[in-house]
Amino acid sequence: MTTHTHTTTATAASVYQQLRGHLAELKLADAAEALPSVLDQASAEGWSLTQALERLLRVEVTATDARRLAGRHRFANLPTGATLADFDLDAASGIDRSLLAELGTCRYLETATNVLLIGPPGVGKTHIATGLGHAAVHAGYRVYFTSAADLAARCHRAAIEGKWSTMMRFFAGPTLLIIDELGYLPLPGEAASALFQVINQRYLKTSIVITTNRPVGAWGEVLGDTTVAAAMLDRLLHRSVVVTLDGASYRLRNHHAAADELRRVTTGTNPR
Ligand code: ADP
Ligand code: MG
Repeated sequence: MTTHTHTTTATAASVYQQLRGHLAELKLADAAEALPSVLDQASAEGWSLTQALERLLRVEVTATDARRLAGRHRFANLPTGATLADFDLDAASGIDRSLLAELGTCRYLETATNVLLIGPPGVGKTHIATGLGHAAVHAGYRVYFTSAADLAARCHRAAIEGKWSTMMRFFAGPTLLIIDELGYLPLPGEAASALFQVINQRYLKTSIVITTNRPVGAWGEVLGDTTVAAAMLDRLLHRSVVVTLDGASYRLRNHHAAADELRRVTTGTNPR
């Protein structure tokens, strides 16, 4: 009897070790780590085999999801933590709650729809673009954020180093490519054609969010070539949501508010 119990324990111990070995072999590190506590909990609470297995694998699935999310987030290169939820609609004009909510669902990505955010400096274009990036990262999409100038510079370098096609593949990869600040700097001819090629190879396949301080009518000037500008707009606008943000700059608004407050405390007058 004693011998029998001993054998059972020894067998259980070796099966347990084998199980740990399987988990390690399959690189299920989080499940391996959780194994003792899940087994303890299972016997303490009388879980079925199915329940126990579900709990164990859930640990691994949760950890894997978190790792992938962190990886997508790192890759996305988003400039700030700005989210759509942080965006104050009362301080903006040109976008309403329902459009912002619709964009927040990421459904536009399924139809390779582009989003153009147009408006003067400080109205929240980069904020919304970044917020769309965060929403897409959380929804499981691959996102990459860059500025028009940076994209142009990288394509230029790639051309020199003979890595043009690698660079083009890179910009074709993400489900959402965000190109910030088109129009702040004039793009030389070569840069304009790089940008065109990036847009063209994504056309009808994957989405672009682009922010610009110049109305589309001025893109010929920005790109130094009306033909390239027309071709680019043709593809960008074919399936697109165009948001024209206007009104006072949020940055300046804060400065005005700070100045008003300063005036109020120093002179005791209320400017309003
Ligand atoms: P743009 O890209 O249009 O020049 P930004 O998106 O960089 O403007 O906005 C400038 C600053 O003001 C950022 O810190 C941004 O988060 C903030 N901001 C602008 N508009 C809003 C808004 N409607 N609600 C909240 N923050 C805003
Ligand atoms: Mg900006």
